[in-house]
Amino acid sequence: MSTTEQASKPEKKSHLTLFIVGAIVAAIILALSAPHFAAKLHVGGEVFLRLLKMMVVPLVIASVMNGILGLGDVRKLGKPGGFAVLYYLCTTVLAVVVGLVVVNFIQPGKNVDAGKVGDLPQTEKRLLEELSDATDLKKEDIAEVLEELKPGLEEERSITMIFENLLLMLFADNLFSAAAETNLLPLIVFSIIFAGMLTTMGDRVKAITDMIGQINDALMSFILLLMKLAPIGIFCLVAARFGEAQAKGEFLAELSRIGWYFTTVLCGLGFHAAVTLPAIYWFFTRKNPYRFVVHMSQAILTAFSTASSSATLPVTMECAHLKAGISKRSTEFVLPLGATINMDGTALYEAAAAIFIAQVIGIDLTLLEQLTIAVTATLAAIGAAGIPEAGLVTMLIVLNAVNLPVEYVTLILSVDWLLDRFRTAVNAFGDSVGAAIVEKSFSD
Ligand code: ASP
Repeated sequence: MSTTEQASKPEKKSHLTLFIVGAIVAAIILALSAPHFAAKLHVGGEVFLRLLKMMVVPLVIASVMNGILGLGDVRKLGKPGGFAVLYYLCTTVLAVVVGLVVVNFIQPGKNVDAGKVGDLPQTEKRLLEELSDATDLKKEDIAEVLEELKPGLEEERSITMIFENLLLMLFADNLFSAAAETNLLPLIVFSIIFAGMLTTMGDRVKAITDMIGQINDALMSFILLLMKLAPIGIFCLVAARFGEAQAKGEFLAELSRIGWYFTTVLCGLGFHAAVTLPAIYWFFTRKNPYRFVVHMSQAILTAFSTASSSATLPVTMECAHLKAGISKRSTEFVLPLGATINMDGTALYEAAAAIFIAQVIGIDLTLLEQLTIAVTATLAAIGAAGIPEAGLVTMLIVLNAVNLPVEYVTLILSVDWLLDRFRTAVNAFGDSVGAAIVEKSFSD
């Protein structure tokens, strides 16, 4: 039975979500009571994470190609494609606005004493080291962003620079190296063009088109199998990361020092996930948005546990199609593209964090500067990869655009891994709402 047929059956009660929630709670309790033991569970978590990541590249290629082949003609993608991009842009901008409103309203930075901020990295090299020590990001990637931040770069130039980078991100020198780096955008562009060509070649390419559909179905079955392991994998991932933070001993102290900042971003993310996105979902589908949240819960929890939209993509696709009943033709385009460019949570956080830093330093930003933050945060979120803490680095571009000192990013470093989980959950949820509403724009 193909996954499409499975989807047409009403979903039986699933206890998997409850098991996953239980696993997360148990993992946090274990991490707080026996942090050193919990930290040792990272191997189990890493195995689960790698299993997910292993599927991402073949899944994106097969699902995007299968989607085009299902449409029969690449030109039919025009309307839904345009609608998807419009959705990504509008929701990202809305998220930024929410971020700006909460941070200006709560003013978390006013409660932090700039004098007690601690040692800030004095040199670019030191900043690079601190960022790469605190995150799993590659040193070269951080260095590349820092390299682009020349002192005194005017606003217009930094925005043009982001636009140029975004355009270049769509293409790769070498498709295989893009695949090796899980660089999804060039793979999506290639898949759309390649499958578009296949649709014009008729019966001559029947074997390839059949094979793509079969690979796609097999991958979906693989994901179903993987989800059975999810409670154990998620337990290990969460226990190890929380255990590591608890073992270092500074985490709770740090959290209480910049707790207002943390609360502010959480309020913004909560508002966007519980009010803005559900309202958009209801407006376009006239269905109960909170039921939709329940359908997508495994993807949301997986995003929280992995802190990576890309690694969560297989689960998001599985939930959206099999649980929420969104058609394959929508999930196959909207979700892979969304996992890469649609990051509401990241955009909201980048805007809020930049203003928080300005508040700590005591700089009153003008309306124009806040607007610049809004524009750069939107673009920086589009450019951020769907990997853990990618948003932290693209935020340097936002700070630089309004001439805020980038080294102040270290202020929020210690709690970023936790905040990242919440924003990734919002990112994945935003993608699935997109798939649900873009579905309406497909003409039969
Ligand atoms: N971890 C986020 C994601 O994968 C990106 C970020 O905000 O750092 O969606």
